[in-house]
Amino acid sequence: MDAMLSLSHVSFSYHTLGGETLALYDISFSVGFGEFAAIVGPSGCGKSTLLSLICGLIRPESGQIIMAGARKNQTDDGSPGIGYMLQRDHLFEWRTVYDNVLLGLEIQKKLTPEKRRRVEEMLDTYGLSAFAGMKPSALSGGMKQRAALIRTLALDPELLLLDEPFSALDYQTRLEVADDIGMIIRREGKTAILVTHDLSEAISMADRVIVLSRRPGQVKSIIPISFPAEYDTPLKKRNAEQFSHYFNLIWKELKQYG
Ligand code: ADP
Ligand code: MG
Repeated sequence: MDAMLSLSHVSFSYHTLGGETLALYDISFSVGFGEFAAIVGPSGCGKSTLLSLICGLIRPESGQIIMAGARKNQTDDGSPGIGYMLQRDHLFEWRTVYDNVLLGLEIQKKLTPEKRRRVEEMLDTYGLSAFAGMKPSALSGGMKQRAALIRTLALDPELLLLDEPFSALDYQTRLEVADDIGMIIRREGKTAILVTHDLSEAISMADRVIVLSRRPGQVKSIIPISFPAEYDTPLKKRNAEQFSHYFNLIWKELKQYG
């Protein structure tokens, strides 16, 4: 698989008045075009820092991050190469759902009739058309995350970064939303990196799981995940025989290096 993103020997420290904190050490991995990668590791091990490095908010202290086909934050037509999805949906209550999903395009002054149509299509495909004129508070937690994803996809990013996007949701909703979001990302053919401390979420959504150690985060192992074709959604994968095998394998990795 061609690499869309590759990190080699990346390290990063935070410098504060209190001193220096080595957050990540000697991180190397790559993500292929169209691949869905998950990064798991204990809280505080540097997962969010890693995403900030990938999207160029901060620079590595040493090592290199290369994104193929696009400059890191802008593609040639000026559209952002990278889209972000966070724990909170960050929808604005004073705008309708429709105006929220168009917000990114508006801010970037790229709201062409064609892009508007594309967004309307996504609202329709992903079951939000009927809610377009409502305020976000009228939506369930899952629908809000779906709207947030459509807003991100509207900008047509080449790479999607998801930082614990489901952790604010209750367990039941979380399963449904992960299913939903996973399906949308695959249908849209996006390359994605999901950061989570939830092993089951990683195993049920990703093609590969990258396991980080405690801080300073180091890559402890990279585990390819594959399920028989009939297990084609995260929820179904959770019920597959292979699931507990992967769970135990990654659990051991995490504990061993704890
Ligand atoms: P994770 O997302 O895996 O929970 P983070 O990447 O947020 O971990 O943080 C990794 C480490 O870096 C933590 O020990 C955290 O306290 C520290 N850290 C994060 N952000 C900053 C910052 N802005 N300044 C100083 N230290 C930070
Ligand atoms: Mg984090």
